[in-house]
Amino acid sequence: TTTLQSSAGRDKQARDAELLGQLRAAIGAAHVLTDPNDLADRLIEDRGLYKGNALAILRPADTAQVAECVRLCFAAGVPIVPQGGNTGLVGGGVPEGGVILITQRLNKIREVDAVNATMTVEAGCILASIQAAAEEVGALFPLSLASEGSCQIGGNLSTNAGGTAVLRYGNTRDLVLGVEVVLPDGRILNDLNGLRKNNTGYDLRNLFIGAEGTLGIITAAVIKLFPQPVSRATTMVACDGPDVALLLFERMRSQNADVLSTFEYIDRSALQMAIDHGPGCSDPMMQAYPAYCLIELTSTGAQDALDARMEAALEAAFEAGEVIDAVIGASEAQKDALWALRENLSDAQKPEGASIKHDVSVPVSRVADFVNAGKAACIDYMPGLRPCPFGHFGDGNLHFNLSRPKDMADADFLAEYPAFNRIVHDIVHEMGGSFSAEHGIGKVKRAELRHYKDPVALQLMTQIKQAIDPAGLMNPGKVL
Ligand code: FAD
Repeated sequence: TTTLQSSAGRDKQARDAELLGQLRAAIGAAHVLTDPNDLADRLIEDRGLYKGNALAILRPADTAQVAECVRLCFAAGVPIVPQGGNTGLVGGGVPEGGVILITQRLNKIREVDAVNATMTVEAGCILASIQAAAEEVGALFPLSLASEGSCQIGGNLSTNAGGTAVLRYGNTRDLVLGVEVVLPDGRILNDLNGLRKNNTGYDLRNLFIGAEGTLGIITAAVIKLFPQPVSRATTMVACDGPDVALLLFERMRSQNADVLSTFEYIDRSALQMAIDHGPGCSDPMMQAYPAYCLIELTSTGAQDALDARMEAALEAAFEAGEVIDAVIGASEAQKDALWALRENLSDAQKPEGASIKHDVSVPVSRVADFVNAGKAACIDYMPGLRPCPFGHFGDGNLHFNLSRPKDMADADFLAEYPAFNRIVHDIVHEMGGSFSAEHGIGKVKRAELRHYKDPVALQLMTQIKQAIDPAGLMNPGKVL
């Protein structure tokens, strides 16, 4: 048996070496990285939950090279894990053997079509650089996430990323008109026509958006541009809790639906951590309140008119008792300082010890019920627990994060992950919600998918995967 195994091992080594040779010939030896130091950062994900292993990192320069790499790996039966900025939060980019294909060098903006209000971008363009390129032509690409300085548009599409502007502009899926994809056998699907109307059969584009790299590698996309707002009114209000925040949201939406861009909820516990640990963050108000909402209106019209609309809505909200205190960003710097509090919420939890995170959504009408029920159930399970809910209240999407009790060891707390998942996700499910609102499934939430997803939907997903990637080589072990 030993002899057989070692000869099988030698065969595999020889096959891997042959494949690496072919890949070097295809994209250049400098772009096939096998040194463990080069691989290290790409084997782990942002939270350090998983560490994977891989034969090599491939850095193709264009779609043709991506297709050639995929074709060679397909022929050799070697799995491929696509990676963009590796900022994903569900372990979707962590390799379990095979090769990592990174899109870093596919970083060109191929076309800006001002009349069609579109931009054709390659998958490796950093989100912030796309925002800047849109701004240069007086337009807006509204996708905005705290990771925008390092995540790439291919990763954004593959996770159907959400972020802080969904309320006004929708998820990534709503911002894309077409995609170019290298399929698991190396064929190239070109759907880059940028049409706003095109009813010619099944919606293939939307299969690849949100597929987390399990159906193919997105190499380019046509994205939508919008008019660039020239004024913004930003305010942070304090309120008694999620129930009144919901009333306030309804008021803001009914009076300002055409200009309401942001309505974010922040529990005091979460804000306190940003105040304590966020670089340059301080308490925006003179005293502590139970909860806060960050509200922003943006428009292409005059600043004065927008400020007047914000003030009118706030005045009415004060009178109705929905708001108990407010800070209005008077200058751009003050507006940015209010945003800094929001953007630091997640990182500020780290110095407080281990946290268990849930990215959930419920119908907007149930979001206050969810916060109340979720907090009560979790504290009941573990007294001393510090729930820190915050997030995209106006989308019904909350980051329902739980920081460990102050005197508990991190490992003991993290051992409770499955128990808290069941408590929180059961409440979400009962309310008709989703256990993954914007981060996807990856490795982390596969068991939850099996537990909660409609069985027929799950069956169809499996059949689609089988039809497009019968050999199971495209990001195996993720989603399904
Ligand atoms: P990666 O992490 O590299 O990959 C993500 C997944 O997509 C993996 O499964 C990978 O295999 C696949 N993939 C990557 N590129 C391709 C491609 N070209 N073709 C096919 N598959 C591919 N997410 C939100 O939705 N909203 C937020 O508000 C948000 N905020 C965040 C804040 C911080 C601080 C951090 C660290 C993350 C945040 N995220 C958020 C999660 C993450 O940034 C997004 O999911 C982002 O869209 C991932 O892009 P990426 O380039 O880093 O993708």
